[in-house]
Amino acid sequence: MTASLKLLLKQYFGYDSFRPLQREIMEQTLAGRDVLAILPTGAGKSLCFQLPALARDGLTLVVSPLIALMKDQVDSLTANGVSATLLNSSIQGAEAQRRRAALAQGQYKLLYAAPERVMTDGFIQDLQRWNVTRIAVDEAHCISEWGHDFRPEYRQLAQLREYLPDVPFLALTATATAQVRGDIAQQLRLNQPDVFLASFNRPNLGYSILPKDKPTRQVFEFIRERPNESGIVYVQSRKSAENLAAALAAEGIKAVAYHAGLQPEQRVANQDAFIHDAARVVCATIAFGMGIDKPDVRFVIHADLPKNLEGYYQETGRAGRDGLPAECVLLYSRGDLVRNLKFLDEASDPKAAGIAARQMRQMADFAEGSECRRAALLDYFGEQWPGDNCGGCDVCLQPHETWDATTQVQKLLSCVFRIKQKGGFSTGLNHAVEVLAGANTEKIRNWGHDQLSTYGIGKETPREQWMSLGRQLIRLGYLNASPDIYQTLSLSVMGRDALAQRSPIFLSRAPHQIAVGSSSAKVSRAGNMACDEGLFAELRDLRKTLADARGVPPYVVFGDVSLRQMARRYPVTEAAFLAIPGVGSQKHADFGPAFVQAISSWLVDHEPLPFPHDEVPVKPAPKMKSEGALNSSVLETLRLFHSGKNPQEIASLRALSPSTVAQHFANAIVSGDLKAEPRDFYSCEAEQLIDQAAVEHGYDRLAPLYEALGGRIPYDQLHFYRAFRQRARLSSQPTSAPPGGQNT
Ligand code: ADP
Ligand code: MG
Ligand code: ZN
Repeated sequence: MTASLKLLLKQYFGYDSFRPLQREIMEQTLAGRDVLAILPTGAGKSLCFQLPALARDGLTLVVSPLIALMKDQVDSLTANGVSATLLNSSIQGAEAQRRRAALAQGQYKLLYAAPERVMTDGFIQDLQRWNVTRIAVDEAHCISEWGHDFRPEYRQLAQLREYLPDVPFLALTATATAQVRGDIAQQLRLNQPDVFLASFNRPNLGYSILPKDKPTRQVFEFIRERPNESGIVYVQSRKSAENLAAALAAEGIKAVAYHAGLQPEQRVANQDAFIHDAARVVCATIAFGMGIDKPDVRFVIHADLPKNLEGYYQETGRAGRDGLPAECVLLYSRGDLVRNLKFLDEASDPKAAGIAARQMRQMADFAEGSECRRAALLDYFGEQWPGDNCGGCDVCLQPHETWDATTQVQKLLSCVFRIKQKGGFSTGLNHAVEVLAGANTEKIRNWGHDQLSTYGIGKETPREQWMSLGRQLIRLGYLNASPDIYQTLSLSVMGRDALAQRSPIFLSRAPHQIAVGSSSAKVSRAGNMACDEGLFAELRDLRKTLADARGVPPYVVFGDVSLRQMARRYPVTEAAFLAIPGVGSQKHADFGPAFVQAISSWLVDHEPLPFPHDEVPVKPAPKMKSEGALNSSVLETLRLFHSGKNPQEIASLRALSPSTVAQHFANAIVSGDLKAEPRDFYSCEAEQLIDQAAVEHGYDRLAPLYEALGGRIPYDQLHFYRAFRQRARLSSQPTSAPPGGQNT
């Protein structure tokens, strides 16, 4: 009995198409083969075993490491009309008996269980009776000591093969390292498995790194600007988690703390508050995360430097599982690295400490680098980012400021060279910078480095700047640093050539270097899926009410993608509601009437907004109100424009200032009399710059905007910018909306 996977996908989950590799994985496991699927978080791994379970007779056993994870998936499946259950230590007595009886009668398609339960005696015999046809091992990296969440109990799972020899295994994980992958296949005794490895890029995540400076304030302001979004703030210590949560709560933000030092009941309560949208922010140590499948985490902030890139990737990966845009922000200060390294010095095992130190430096290099964050992260996992500009990280979104570093580079490289020449040994960066700065230290006196020609030639530049340049030259390969803890410097071949040829070197300032002290650095906001935000808010409230009544998290009722689509398409018929992604037949029956009702009543008082590239809204879009007739001077400017003159020519022909002519165009754009595109007047780069500045300063008054941009964008372009924004605001606003209502 193999029903079409595509039909089942729509009927039970309400989706029209598969995500990459889902279908291929399902087909292989349905063919009875062992499969190892390595897909990033949010890629949709659960569906890879849930849908095959529906396509065949028999029971699918799902091994999962955490009760919270199991419960979440069983809730979601139940809401979709799939019969699923779980057995673990939280289910006892009569309830456990009832579930076993139902399992024996074949009433469930999926059974979730923890590994320690699976291996108990009676349970294996039960499994043999219950017609298990597939075993899915979720979070399979837990089997590997090399992974970050090692669970010894996972090791025993391979024994299942002896008892259920013909049952195919499907192992799933988001952990990419080859070592862990190999371990999974070996430990689970996978039989010539088909291995599926997806790209680890998370296209909907935006990455940015900001200089850390009053982190509590920075975190608070970030969250305050996103009043309806939930997210995670990672900090280093339990104490900071509690302090930060308290500080945010004192400012009126519903925040809770999470760390391993909390009483278990408190921990569960705080986690539940987050999952059920009662708290919108968790301030947590890295103890928080696995087991959280909340799909609408809109931001992950690292307020302290993560210990390694792998952890950073996993933690940021918890944002945006639903595929909608989400932001990952790291607050970086070099002091964090220094502190982390200092703690290491006290560690006992020197080999482990060495590895940890290398990983920490790698993390700091990532933060200090001026390379695309996405490319750098993917590179860490051995993947190449094909494009030039990812369009979704601070490096790619902020224009690169470059400076002529030739002289400075010459000074630093020759200083390193002279030090080695003089004593025959190398030193670390810090000492080289001391020499450049002309410091009077004991080492300098002892080694005679005050006699070097480079002694004191860098006095005019602050030491921190020299350090930063030195680190950049290491990253770029002009200098080599020894791998031991001293990190002594030597010139690479490239560095020697640069020194000998005095070739001009232009370096880009890392975004955090530009930003330090200028406070103009802003996280660029990723645009969300546009929808009628007013209706979306209503639907969210309704979702929360329905979810609370059932005791499930709101996202079990519907995800944000479904709600946003409802607030774009205004479905008021059954067919229209069923076409919303995420609406399967069970949810249609259970929740359809309430949502359709809410949308219909919304439409009584509100005009639907038009959203292009989608179905036409139920009612026609409202006509634009004209902003009043244009005066004759504006009309004259327009006439000249249509006869082929450009703005500069018009200004000189009419003896008007460019700014006045720009104002004429702006009026005509706002009124709709001039059909033009932003690109007719300013570049894409200029637009990005202005967008960023407008987040903080708005665009109604141009003077502050001009100031904030440091005069980089001329006034006339700002006039045009404002006109296009105002025009967009008008055309997306129903005439009945109150003035000042925002739809962007
Ligand atoms: P993973 O386990 O890989 O991290 P999940 O299985 O938790 O990912 O799925 C992440 C999200 O993607 C869930 O909200 C799920 O409903 C959604 N999803 C999965 N498959 C599809 C699909 N084919 N179309 C649309 N959404 C999907
Ligand atoms: Mg998963
Ligand atoms: Zn980028």
